[in-house]
Amino acid sequence: MIKDTETILRIALQKSGRLHDDSMDLMNRSGIKFNTGAGRLVAQSTGFPVEALFLRDDDIPQTVYDGVADIGIVGENEYAEKGYELEIVKHLNFGKCRLSLAIPKSEHYTGVGWFDGKKVATSYPRILKKFFEEKKIQAEIHEIAGSVEIAPGIGLADAIFDIVSSGSTLVANSLKEVGVVMYSQAVVVANKNLEPEKREILDQMLFRFNSVMASATNKYVLLNAPNERVKDIVKILPGMKSPTVLPLAQEGWSSIHSVISEEQFWEVIDQLKACGAEGILIIPIEKMIL
Ligand code: ATP
Ligand code: ZN
Repeated sequence: MIKDTETILRIALQKSGRLHDDSMDLMNRSGIKFNTGAGRLVAQSTGFPVEALFLRDDDIPQTVYDGVADIGIVGENEYAEKGYELEIVKHLNFGKCRLSLAIPKSEHYTGVGWFDGKKVATSYPRILKKFFEEKKIQAEIHEIAGSVEIAPGIGLADAIFDIVSSGSTLVANSLKEVGVVMYSQAVVVANKNLEPEKREILDQMLFRFNSVMASATNKYVLLNAPNERVKDIVKILPGMKSPTVLPLAQEGWSSIHSVISEEQFWEVIDQLKACGAEGILIIPIEKMIL
């Protein structure tokens, strides 16, 4: 039977802001491009059964929960604050930040008990309330939408609970970070009742995301080594299966090819040099199919 309506997966993305560019970049590099015009709220994809809905990040959890969108890309902080039950299907490794408590620099911090009886300004009342309940702290939570960091300076609160990435905003407002309550990054959230056809599209999309993300954190390495050192070098280079070893035209030498992860990178290079590797080339990987 011919289906007259093709199933489309609807993804909610931040319209503009800190998650927008990285989200679009990930979709693009996954071969999912949108016909976006200026100010458009809905966009169809070319070549993949996905439709994007551009929203404020605050609205993404509910939109996915209600099923208006099937999935979304949002910060874990926003997901936790809104409290809608969704499935986190993938951590995306961008939009990294932390939610922290900060107090005036001049205050002597005695531990979390310092907050007893204090007034704390935040845009994340739900997460903070839960934290204070767990720690049995009686504090007043004062919700404000933005510019939280100026609240103590203008006498609106004794302390703040807010997003911190580098900490420079805190310093500029004479505040000091005294405790991290949660670490956050962008995640893909999904409605818990996705129909099987949509789940299938989601799985295909996640497969592409995985390939793109793996390629970003891995490098292709090529090097030359005398044959008697090949064994040692192969031990250092794990590769996807095992390294490729090819003879060079120059007798007694081989070329070795492998894949190494960014985290191991400098350590591995130092070990390779110590093992007599020469002419080491490091090449970016476009896509990595796992
Ligand atoms: P919107 O207009 O969509 O409501 P917003 O102003 O609430 O945008 P942004 O500042 O664009 O939000 O931040 C979106 C998300 O990016 C945050 O919820 C958080 O998950 C993440 N993020 C990462 N680093 C930072 C940072 N330094 N400051 C603020 N948010 C950050
Ligand atoms: Zn927002």
